[in-house]
Amino acid sequence: MSLLDILTFPDTFLKKTARPVEQIDGELQAIIDRMSDTMYQAPGVGLAAVQVGLDKSLLVYDVADKEDGRDLHVLINPRILAQEGQILSENEGCLSVPDFRADVTRSANILVEGVDRDGKPLRFEAEGFMAIVLQHEIDHLNGTLFIDRISALKRQLYTRRVKKYLKHQGE
Ligand SMILES: [Zn+2]
Repeated sequence: MSLLDILTFPDTFLKKTARPVEQIDGELQAIIDRMSDTMYQAPGVGLAAVQVGLDKSLLVYDVADKEDGRDLHVLINPRILAQEGQILSENEGCLSVPDFRADVTRSANILVEGVDRDGKPLRFEAEGFMAIVLQHEIDHLNGTLFIDRISALKRQLYTRRVKKYLKHQGE
């Protein structure tokens, strides 16, 4: 199975709002498999379709402890219906924002709905790390990166570093 390339900042595709998935078929299942392989290989705890250049409202995640083995979840057309409380997501990172981490304030509890890989409707509450991961991945489907949720000063530090790097790459 071939892995997918993960787009990185400042790729403008990452600013895209993903289009809702209208049909769950074999083609989509194959994409889901490639996305989860790509996530595990990276390795990451979540991956949104936008990150691999696909304009689809779809994400995969696995927040299980490594010792417990894999626990893959697929969420199609996810929506946060309600959120409450605050939690500090310490040292948050992103496969699309390499070599940078920052604290992000997230909602502590969320109510999410969507459908699974077989089209079965899902509605569940998430808290703690799982809530953080879901908010991060659903943000991707709305064109938002975690660096959009930190102070402008911290974001500048990162964007300057990336620009400098890309400039050197071009030399
Ligand atoms: Zn991310």
